[in-house]
Amino acid sequence: TKWVYSFGDGTADGTADMRNLLGGKGANLAEMSNLGLPVPSGFTISTEVCTAYYENDRAYPADLAEQVDAAIEKIENSVGGKFGQKENPLLVSVRSGARASMPGMMDTVLNLGLNDETVEGLAEKSGDRRFAFDSYRRFIQMYSDVVLEVGHHHFEELLEILKEEKGYFLDTDLEAADWEALVAQYKAKVEEELGRPFPQDVRDQLWGAISAVFGSWMNQRAITYRRLHDIPAEWGTAVNVQAMVFGNMGDDSATGVAFTRDPSTGDKRFYGEFLVNAQGEDVVAGIRTPQNLTKQARLDAGSEDLSMEEVFPEVYAQLVEVYKRLEAHYRDMQDIEFTVQQGKLWMLQTRSGKRTAKAALQIAVDMVEEDLISKEEAILRIEPSSLDQLLHPTLDPKAEKNVIARGLPASPGAASGEIVFNSDEAEKLANEGKSVILVRVETSPEDIHGMHAAKGILTSRGGMTSHAAVVARGMGRACVSGAGSLNIDYKDETLTVLGDTFKKGDIITIDGGTGEVMVGSVDMILPELSGTFGTLMAWADDIRRMKVRTNAETPLDAETARKFGAEGVGLCRTEHMFFDAERIVAVRQMILAETLEEREAALAKLLPVQRADFVDLFRIMSGLPVTVRLLDPPLHEFLPKTDEEIDELAAALGADAKKLRHRAMQLHEFNPMLGHRGCRLGISYPEIYEMQARAILEAAALVSKELGETVIPEIMVPLVATKRELEILKGKISAVGEAIEKETGVAVEYLIGTMIELPRAALQAGQIAEEAEFFSFGTNDLTQTTFGISRDDSGSFLDDYVNQGIYETDPFVSLDKEGVGELVKLAAERGRATRPDIKLGICGEHGGDPASIDFCETVGLDYVSCSPYRVPIARLAAAQAAL
Ligand code: ADP
Ligand code: MG
Ligand code: MG
Repeated sequence: TKWVYSFGDGTADGTADMRNLLGGKGANLAEMSNLGLPVPSGFTISTEVCTAYYENDRAYPADLAEQVDAAIEKIENSVGGKFGQKENPLLVSVRSGARASMPGMMDTVLNLGLNDETVEGLAEKSGDRRFAFDSYRRFIQMYSDVVLEVGHHHFEELLEILKEEKGYFLDTDLEAADWEALVAQYKAKVEEELGRPFPQDVRDQLWGAISAVFGSWMNQRAITYRRLHDIPAEWGTAVNVQAMVFGNMGDDSATGVAFTRDPSTGDKRFYGEFLVNAQGEDVVAGIRTPQNLTKQARLDAGSEDLSMEEVFPEVYAQLVEVYKRLEAHYRDMQDIEFTVQQGKLWMLQTRSGKRTAKAALQIAVDMVEEDLISKEEAILRIEPSSLDQLLHPTLDPKAEKNVIARGLPASPGAASGEIVFNSDEAEKLANEGKSVILVRVETSPEDIHGMHAAKGILTSRGGMTSHAAVVARGMGRACVSGAGSLNIDYKDETLTVLGDTFKKGDIITIDGGTGEVMVGSVDMILPELSGTFGTLMAWADDIRRMKVRTNAETPLDAETARKFGAEGVGLCRTEHMFFDAERIVAVRQMILAETLEEREAALAKLLPVQRADFVDLFRIMSGLPVTVRLLDPPLHEFLPKTDEEIDELAAALGADAKKLRHRAMQLHEFNPMLGHRGCRLGISYPEIYEMQARAILEAAALVSKELGETVIPEIMVPLVATKRELEILKGKISAVGEAIEKETGVAVEYLIGTMIELPRAALQAGQIAEEAEFFSFGTNDLTQTTFGISRDDSGSFLDDYVNQGIYETDPFVSLDKEGVGELVKLAAERGRATRPDIKLGICGEHGGDPASIDFCETVGLDYVSCSPYRVPIARLAAAQAAL
């Protein structure tokens, strides 16, 4: 088997298409090499080795070593050095790279191949002893941290002590002899910690690093990241070994990162940061504050530090040429990493850049206009759930705000919350329902869970490409980075700025769009949805087949949903209309009634209010279809729980408290989810459903007249298991319709249908369709009843099930295609066989979940219905499903 793929010198064994085998980084290094771009020679050990390694108890394929040796020799020939040889030593980097980019998850080792001998050789060859020992100390520190598990702090301490002794401020103040002395101390430290010396054999070093990369695939950070991003463990990572180029070779050397377009806004401008005389991670680590790439960006930032465009005009021009080529070649915004060694440009990485939802829209729409991509591609490039970011609040421009600090606008959106200083606590408080702002000097991959839990992230150090900024943008969290005036004290858990001290738990607001940090919580408003959002959504609407409706009861929800493009109401839950303080009294009277007359008297009071509700709803939806579900929950949900409340209610109704308590007890159920609810209420108390049907139909008649257009309500009977239930209730509803027709002389049009939310109903769909004019799949209940688990009680074990891979995802979040989906499919087929034009929709939470929407398309449903804020997500997901 071929395990190893070489690249460099304008050719490569691999291509960009081979990312499954070579990982993203390796595939793109090969591609750049094929394009003739300046890429240091190297090779990629494929992801198949990773898989084999874990399958064989962490042992490598027998012929791997041979292939690695041959590939090393190729690099040696290409760059004209020799691995492990004093004269002209070859140094390499060892870099991980999985199929999906996992920023910062895997550790890179630079300058590998240095030892006590080769460092002398490097010093001679470069004529720069300081550079050689600077590289060596970097290598010892990185290798120790990543491979030997001797942490960074050991070395940072020694460096700090030396700087203090010598009165140095910056790392660049250290001279050759200083680094040399430090190298000796570093090695001693490793030996002290490990009981054995730092490895001098370069092959041992290489294999140690390779194993560390493969090993890191299974470290906790990587596992957490994969879980958050649904990346399967079987994918594995590749290892890239590549000749070193040096950005730390003096003032004509540098290292940098860039985006071909602005990853925050999507604006078409080259954008990035670089550091002179520095290596690799220095830019992202936030150790020194990097400089801008373009002169314009520097001027915009009001900075005196010259930009790359000004310092290295020639290399900069070359970089511009390269980035334009890469973008045109990949037809997407690229995130690139480069190094300048003594005036020569080297490309070290390119990949599709992470971006905010706003930027994603802007870039997709611009690229269609630039004829780079088609509308379909543009639609497929937007992650539907990411639109959520755009539907969320930003600061009200009219709000009063007390700005205490300013940092970089690293990830847009505004957020208010309590200050927390560590990620575990952020997660804990968020789980308790609190809004938190994670405040850190800088973040690292260990903070991913805290960043995920927080509403926003604030750091005092690091640039626009720091870990905090990149990860926050990817997650859609608001982030302000590098607010240098903040003084953060982890030990005391305080944040001091301009003499004011804030404690853990104090509320602050950050605006990731401007970089402002404010005291307290600041008023926010909903953003305008226009421009690129509107353009892309219009394309999506042209392409999708399924309609998108909303689940809404209140006028506010209905209005919001229409603003977001809902094409009707798929679920109006009438019980939500009963909880209003005034109505609940009449509802309770209805429930407690002992005779039919008493119940009808109470219902008569409810009729006009229900009718008014529907009039509002029909008006807002102005002729669009509206599905109204008749009363669903068990009656005792409306009754008071405590003795005190019962006494109060008795007094209000002029009823006997003892009788009342008795009735409440009668209604008590052990398992209300499977109890006296849904159409079972209609069977026992038909007058309730008759009142509701009347309210719906009278409202429809009224609004039809007003609009001059027929409103055709869809009356939906919940929790049907048998055809007979529906037959009986349909009879009652039709009788109400006929009565109204007689009273008013106007014919009312309506549909009667049912929820399919019990396995039996799905199986009997063919029979039920003889009565039902539409089905709406209530997949929340259908999931509960198919799995036999209660959604409200599943919290205690769901995590275990997801973690142990029993459920791929929470079946209440994403529809279980194999089980619940099978029932949906079968019911759709059987329903259609009976009634070819039967309307089919879904109204569970799944109606707003992109993966579930994709499934609905395969089953051929007519529409999905979801909560108002998910309507745009569903529109886009439905378009993607249709492509
Ligand atoms: P990550 O996946 O975290 O971005 P990389 O493998 O890209 O890690 O390595 C991080 C940085 O190390 C790169 O951006 C680059 O600056 C530096 N680096 C990696 N390989 C080399 C190399 N061969 N020569 C010089 N610098 C390198
Ligand atoms: Mg990188
Ligand atoms: Mg239900």
